Amino acid sequence: MEFSSSTILSFLALLFLSIPFSASNPTQDSFYQCLATNSNLSVPLYPAFYTPNISSFTSLLQSTAQNLRYLLPSVPKPELIFTPLLESHVQSAVICSKQLNIHLRVRSGGHDYEGLSYVSQIESPFIIVDLSKLRSISVDIADNSAWASAGATIGELYYRIAEKSKIHGFPAGLCTSLGIGGHITGGAYGSMMRKYGLGADNVLDARIVDANGNILDRQSMGEDLFWAIRGGGGASFGIILSWKVRLVPVPETVTVFTVPKTLEQGGTKILYRWQQVADKLDENLFIRVVISVADGSTKGQKTISTAYNALFLGGVDRLLQVMNQSFPELGLQSKDCVELSWLKSVLYIAGYPSSVPPEALLQGKSSFKNYFKAKSDFVREPIPETGLEGIWKRLLEEDSPLMVWNPYGGMMSKISES
Ligand SMILES: Cc1cc2nc3c(=O)[nH]c(=O)nc-3n(C[C@H](O)[C@H](O)[C@H](O)COP(=O)(O)OP(=O)(O)OC[C@H]3O[C@@H](n4cnc5c(N)ncnc54)[C@H](O)[C@@H]3O)c2cc1C
Repeated sequence: MEFSSSTILSFLALLFLSIPFSASNPTQDSFYQCLATNSNLSVPLYPAFYTPNISSFTSLLQSTAQNLRYLLPSVPKPELIFTPLLESHVQSAVICSKQLNIHLRVRSGGHDYEGLSYVSQIESPFIIVDLSKLRSISVDIADNSAWASAGATIGELYYRIAEKSKIHGFPAGLCTSLGIGGHITGGAYGSMMRKYGLGADNVLDARIVDANGNILDRQSMGEDLFWAIRGGGGASFGIILSWKVRLVPVPETVTVFTVPKTLEQGGTKILYRWQQVADKLDENLFIRVVISVADGSTKGQKTISTAYNALFLGGVDRLLQVMNQSFPELGLQSKDCVELSWLKSVLYIAGYPSSVPPEALLQGKSSFKNYFKAKSDFVREPIPETGLEGIWKRLLEEDSPLMVWNPYGGMMSKISES
């Protein structure tokens, strides 16, 4: 039996259109049809289309959503989730959402504090364009650069760089499941920022889809827009398809440590001192403080734990010299320190147990998912000890509070704010 090519094409189109719509609604229907009209159908659309009547819809919605508060039943849900398989699908999604007046939310790694990439509380109906299937990374050591697609995690980028070179890295977030797409749009601070600045300071080029569905690179978008997308916040200036980033040198061996101090161990005084020195230390040293409530020494008593969690771009001997000179109050000893590769330091700082292999970074999984309210802020003057004591009082009233204090200084003081 022979078919003409036009018969085969119309049969395929019918098949694609019929699969997702066993219980469709008008928004899903019109969006799908618009996408089909505006897309290259050599790659079928239906595997990219998730409606609430499909069993995998909920697991996809939940997959990278970090803040479980925004998955509660009372929170509005999208009409559908579209997971582009090609860059041109992202273009079609922009064109169609505009044409049909459907609000669009873009998700890369799902770490937005307020769930903005997967929830729209006001605009309705809304759909999610989830970029998790656009996650290719290509590292070019000779060019000292890498192109990373928006749906990849920052941990995948770190892994792919280290796979090619033990002496290259990238200065961005400490949490390895952050999506490259959203993360760099907000700056991307991390444990190498005192040496190399933010992730956004190390972006060389970008590919974005603008509000008209055009793909632009650095040259075609112009320097104003290129400036705005590197720090202007997610979902503000188009959809990032990929970033070209500059790699930075890292030593083959770096050193990490975590030294906890409770209030009973003089935690308040040490933290006051840390505030005076942390931004002035050797640029190779980044010491953040993770502050939480912990069990005290007597049963039922609570205390504050201040854990000094650090990366030093060098070996332990040099680190001890730097610490003895600049921050002896912490009492760091060589037994507190671990020498390892830069990639393993990434896992350490992200909180993985030492038994977890670097390949875990390729799974893009988050270990943090929780019901939380988070806020970031800047402190320019050291908080006096009485102020710290006030903070401890407030923290001890909460169920499971967490504060993470990250020092700037070094390269961060050399880069102009604008
Ligand atoms: C547990 C945790 C740890 C964190 N650690 C760090 C850290 O170490 N350093 C740091 O700098 N920040 C950190 N952050 C903040 C984080 O960088 C930002 O929330 C960032 O926006 C997350 O990007 P994402 O792609 O994972 O999130 P998403 O929720 O997917 O996106 C965040 C925002 O960007 C938009 N967006 C997503 N993808 C794109 C795209 N491709 N183009 C345009 N807009 C897009 C979304 O619509 C949303 O508004 C952390 C957040 C959490 C929850």
